[in-house]
Amino acid sequence: MCSTISKRMLGLTQKNSAVREMFEEGNRLAKLYGRENVYDFSIGNPYFPAPERVSSAIHEVLENEAVNYVHGYMPNAGFPDVRQAVAESLNKRFETSYSSANVIMTVGAAGGLNCALQTLLDPDDEVICFAPFFLEYGNYIANHGGRLVIVPAGASDFQPDAEALRKAISPKTKALIINSPNNPTGVIYSEETIKKLAAVLEEKQREYSHPIFIISDEPYRELSYDGAVVPWLPSFYRNTIVGYSWSKSLSLPGERIGYLLIPSEVEDFELVFSAASISNRILGFVNAPSLIQLAVAKCLDERTDIASYDTNRKLLYNGLTALGFDCVYPQGTFYLWMKTPCDDKEFAQLAKKYNILVVPGASFACPGYVRIAYCVGSDTIRGSLPGFEKLAKELGL
Ligand code: PLP
Repeated sequence: MCSTISKRMLGLTQKNSAVREMFEEGNRLAKLYGRENVYDFSIGNPYFPAPERVSSAIHEVLENEAVNYVHGYMPNAGFPDVRQAVAESLNKRFETSYSSANVIMTVGAAGGLNCALQTLLDPDDEVICFAPFFLEYGNYIANHGGRLVIVPAGASDFQPDAEALRKAISPKTKALIINSPNNPTGVIYSEETIKKLAAVLEEKQREYSHPIFIISDEPYRELSYDGAVVPWLPSFYRNTIVGYSWSKSLSLPGERIGYLLIPSEVEDFELVFSAASISNRILGFVNAPSLIQLAVAKCLDERTDIASYDTNRKLLYNGLTALGFDCVYPQGTFYLWMKTPCDDKEFAQLAKKYNILVVPGASFACPGYVRIAYCVGSDTIRGSLPGFEKLAKELGL
């Protein structure tokens, strides 16, 4: 039977995102019991506000720049001065020599990933992701006719396994999406891991005589703790495209602002860059939002309140492990990845009894765990611990 909307979209309307579902459940429970009695750890919506400098930068732009410039069209890749400022800030940090010619301003990380995937994929090309991963990747890959290939989680440290990658690569493999610091595990992929993955990719590129790209999705790059270093992937693998966003690092998810960094070394650089700029246009973004582009260019050294996230991290990890739960100690992001003593979906249901909302690991292609987003006020964490304690007792911990 012919339906009004496409079969794919029909399928998606019937399969709501588990994160969004929990988030909506949180809003429902808040109406019933009061927001302060609901412990909503479902969504990665930053709790700590954007640094004050963001607001003053927006005002400066509005006061000092011509209105037609601030609100006008621009090259699809974004304002050249903004792209140059982004390139220079990366050069300072990573000893690189990028320029505006390597940067495309995008509509958040999601917009950038879609541009990168549209640039690279032909129908049925394969894109590899390591479980657990941000499940929207599957939708983004499907948007451009690609096929998602999942490499299951290996060792308990959640570092990707290079040998498992080798087995997953086929002549159809076009790209690999890497996300470190990782949503949902909070793990930072080590230099050693990256080197091993790069070696396998080099070998396979030679074997199949075509490039295999790493798309490095880095919205959490700035959210690392204890001085942990997040390796800069283009230094380890030539065909790397970096996707970044200020959604988390400046608490601006609704502003939809990020960038793609395409190093000049990538194979067929000019073609790739030009295709990704066109993609920004034809996906309907046209360009990243103009006012916030100009504002973030003034805030490149600003960071969100990492110290408060760190306080939350310790409070939650210490609280849960003291109750007997088995958790991965996060090195970055604002997510805690916890093993469930029962089925993960059942655990998430049980937790709701205590007004605690967490996301089952199955939503990240990794059952047996839940993700607890601690981008909340520390009172929410403190308030949730008695409920977790009851859950632990109920589950025999
Ligand atoms: N990639 C990962 C791993 C994420 O966790 C998110 C958002 O939570 C995104 C991409 C999308 O980020 P943005 O809001 O910048 O599009």
